[in-house]
Amino acid sequence: MLNLVTGGAGFIGSNLINRLINKGEDVICIDNLSTGKLRNLNEIFNNSKFTFIEHDLINPIDLEIDKIWHLACPASPEKYQEDPIKTSKTCFLGTMNMLELANNYDAKFLFASSSEVYGDPKEYPQKEKYLGAANFIGKRSCYTEGKRIAESLCFDFHRKYNLEIKIARIFNTYGPKMNEDDGRLISNLIKQALQNKKLTIYGDGSQTRSFCYIDDLIEGLFKLMEFKETLLVNLGSVKEYQVQDIANFVINLINSDLNYINLPLPEDDPKRRNPDINLAISKLGWNPSIDILEGLKNSICYLKDFVN
Ligand code: NAD
Repeated sequence: MLNLVTGGAGFIGSNLINRLINKGEDVICIDNLSTGKLRNLNEIFNNSKFTFIEHDLINPIDLEIDKIWHLACPASPEKYQEDPIKTSKTCFLGTMNMLELANNYDAKFLFASSSEVYGDPKEYPQKEKYLGAANFIGKRSCYTEGKRIAESLCFDFHRKYNLEIKIARIFNTYGPKMNEDDGRLISNLIKQALQNKKLTIYGDGSQTRSFCYIDDLIEGLFKLMEFKETLLVNLGSVKEYQVQDIANFVINLINSDLNYINLPLPEDDPKRRNPDINLAISKLGWNPSIDILEGLKNSICYLKDFVN
């Protein structure tokens, strides 16, 4: 079975590739290394079952493959806003190029979408049928609308060519191999704590987030890829924590003398986002189980080596 993982040098992609290689599968990784790092692929780079291709997915590529795991896209708001037009191109052209490839070789296709398609939601928890409340001209729209057009393309390929597609609407995920400089909540807090700095909390810290540990997410992606029909499904943890609570966990795990400072909320920052995962439970038998404290400990252990 030949797998193509796009965005495989990134956080989720590199964890996915490790799992595929450990299962004895062959993997080609395509990445333009814009936010991904080759160090994430260290363990498997010289494995005979692994091939790395540096390529930008906004340009087509021809490869005969059996399964496409299409993850390529910057995921952190800081990174995807650096060049928003490029982010939109990656979402649209990158996904179109991968769908055409899947269609040409009758490959299984999985797309990594995001809970961002729900915008700043007015319904809790968010079911897959909820159409969301997104700002389509704001600073985050390149990503929100990018993921929406990419989902739309997936369903058009399904309707027009009967291509079997799987869409994972991924909610916040964390764990080893996340980038210490991605500006996202958990990596930020851990980095600041490891540097003995005050932890930054945007807003008053009462906004909630749910965090899924990477191993749980990868399990969900595998189950989704193996599902026999076209399916769009939320993958995330249902346990909600206030941002303030996460900061306290990190402080207690690293240095209980540390304190925090509150800064203004960024534009379009959702106040609350929480998945309804009943579809994933019933269709895939998937329910994340790794406890936040265990996940944070593993993440701290990983990030220690990269934070000065
Ligand atoms: P990441 O930034 O660590 O990885 C993305 C990878 O895609 C990087 O290696 C980057 O270099 C590559 N890439 C970006 N644009 C590309 C292009 N035009 N051509 C080729 N490669 C390109 O992000 P991640 O956290 O690993 O996220 C992976 C996927 O999951 C993304 O599609 C993201 O939107 C989605 N997602 C992630 C989260 C999360 O919490 N991490 C949440 C929701 C959705």
